[in-house]
Amino acid sequence: MKTRMLALGGLDAAPGTRRQGTVDVTAAGITVPLPVFLVNGAGEGPTLVVTAGIHGGEYPCVEAAARFGRALDPAVISGQVIVVPSANPVAFRARAIYVTPPDGKNLNREFPGSAGGTFTEAWAHWLFENVLRQADAYIDMHGGDMIEALVPFTAWNRTGDARIDDVARRMAEAYGIVHVVERDLEGLYGMTHAAAARVGVPAILTEAGGQGVWDEESVRILEEGCHRVLAELGMGPAVPGAVEPVVVHPGWTWLRSEHDGLYYPAAAVGDVVEAGQDLGRLANLWGETLQSLTAPVGGLVLFQVTSLAMNTGDPLLAIAH
Ligand SMILES: [Zn+2]
Repeated sequence: MKTRMLALGGLDAAPGTRRQGTVDVTAAGITVPLPVFLVNGAGEGPTLVVTAGIHGGEYPCVEAAARFGRALDPAVISGQVIVVPSANPVAFRARAIYVTPPDGKNLNREFPGSAGGTFTEAWAHWLFENVLRQADAYIDMHGGDMIEALVPFTAWNRTGDARIDDVARRMAEAYGIVHVVERDLEGLYGMTHAAAARVGVPAILTEAGGQGVWDEESVRILEEGCHRVLAELGMGPAVPGAVEPVVVHPGWTWLRSEHDGLYYPAAAVGDVVEAGQDLGRLANLWGETLQSLTAPVGGLVLFQVTSLAMNTGDPLLAIAH
């Protein structure tokens, strides 16, 4: 007889039951209610953690995670599922792009965080210690931010540990998104899924949607992927229909703005570009070119920022190799 309770910040669920509610999280003196689903399966199994909305303006993943949390039936689940559908509620409510308002930091660059740090650093620390530490497998859902368009993709980071990498690869292949970016974990810091991988948790990042829109197709891709991973891990029922074989990209190259200016792209997301190809320019309001953009490598334009306004250091686009 299974006796393991699933607990998070004062909420708990006995085996075969589920709980949904909010947990009060205090970071840098600010207390914010964090919505969570706890689903403790009737059967034995691992713990899957799903987070969405680490970036507050990425809406399809928030809706997908909430639907996933609501759909889970503990009677047919083996193991535990923790879903945090809006993992950065302050940024969500503020409709913030990239950063979290109290300190202007990017939560997806702050993991594993710092208890005594600024709001975002302390928030990352709480999530890491209380949520991610419980995971045997982890899905972090994103989308293009409010000024980004993208081709749906999954990414994961090779740790060099065969067991961890095998599970992460299986999760990425099962999820159902065709384009998969595989990189080495070495040198990657701050991202939620990279921080989880660093402590031995097989972790994937998935992205669909963008530009501040939430659309049913992106929500469907992201929610269905979670159910497919649940099935792949032997924790939940099979999802009808086959997924397309993945196309693996062994890395990506980002272009960034070197000026404050206006961005005139010459390629679109989904384009396959060649090394040296014209990708547009940064200019000022007088029409003078500040930066000419050429593709440093060939590959698929995986995401592109759609904002006319550009600041020094901002990402412009990524090319998947
Ligand atoms: Zn994001």
